[in-house]
Amino acid sequence: MPSRSDESCLSFPFAEPPGTGGVIEVAPGVLWARIPLPFRLDHVNIYLIDDSDGWAVLDTGIGDDTTREVWQALLSGPLAGRRITRLIVSHYHPDHIGLAGWLCQKLNIPLLTSQTSYLGCINISLRPGALDAKPYRDFYATHGMTPDAVDRVTSQGHHYLKMVTPLPPTFQRLVGGDTLTLGGRDFEVISGDGHAPEQLMLYCPADNFFLAADQVIAKISPNISVWAVEPDGDPLGLYLRSLRCIRKNVPASTLVLPGHQLPFRGLHERCVELADHHAARCRLIDDACRERPRTVAEIVPILFSRALDPHQMSFAFSEAHAHVNYMIRQKFLTQFVGRDGAVRVGRIG
Ligand SMILES: [Zn+2]
Ligand SMILES: [Zn+2]
Repeated sequence: MPSRSDESCLSFPFAEPPGTGGVIEVAPGVLWARIPLPFRLDHVNIYLIDDSDGWAVLDTGIGDDTTREVWQALLSGPLAGRRITRLIVSHYHPDHIGLAGWLCQKLNIPLLTSQTSYLGCINISLRPGALDAKPYRDFYATHGMTPDAVDRVTSQGHHYLKMVTPLPPTFQRLVGGDTLTLGGRDFEVISGDGHAPEQLMLYCPADNFFLAADQVIAKISPNISVWAVEPDGDPLGLYLRSLRCIRKNVPASTLVLPGHQLPFRGLHERCVELADHHAARCRLIDDACRERPRTVAEIVPILFSRALDPHQMSFAFSEAHAHVNYMIRQKFLTQFVGRDGAVRVGRIG
């Protein structure tokens, strides 16, 4: 569930994004293009990185006809005359990996991504209905989710596959800590969890830019969700750890090239803002649980004041759950089952 903050002190060296089918050079040998998305967040950024005799591509857009048309326009327009050398995918969300299978086959290029992104995507394609199983439905229901939202969240595998073309049968694994050389430049591979497991980011020390994918975006707080398959998971704790790791390993002066919205400077400030945003949400939950124990469903309207449709509700619910699980891990809250069978959390002490 994106949330927005406008009062930050970030700077935006490129006021306007490239038009559809166009590119802007945002760093030496790095082109920025945009692909439309049919969602409220209506675009994803992709990047083309100089790779000696061609371009390496970072991320793809979703696997639909509009995206294919934009790719055709890019390949026959600003990218014509140089080959595409390889495809790097930051994480397995459909706006980033959706067209990977199609692009790799069409251009006869290898796919480079994290093992979790590759296997996560393949796993959904093998069993798209798996999340509809009774233990998963019960998990959401006992935390107070409405039947509408349960239907939505447990059928997400099917929605996902409509946006993703089948992956190539092999891939090249990238691991946090690797050095990836593109066009003679070394990139530090950074892996971060919380928004998606083992999401990859690339930092180029030579030219001081940072391909941040969805981990750090200027005005959106990336969705952090607990899913039924890992009911006690702590994605928020992992996300906060990743923000600390980024601040330690990437300098404050870097140019951030994110997966959505505009490139910006102010990486460390933005990491602090994002951590503060989650701390504020934890305080709201703490206040609410001082009054009485709550289910996750009862915490959702405390964090999200506007009306939510079933799609938004499933994300808001899972995001609220991430805060609850984090506060349980931090020993602020404890969880118990009430006489009505609902799971509630209350304050410790
Ligand atoms: Zn994402
Ligand atoms: Zn994204």
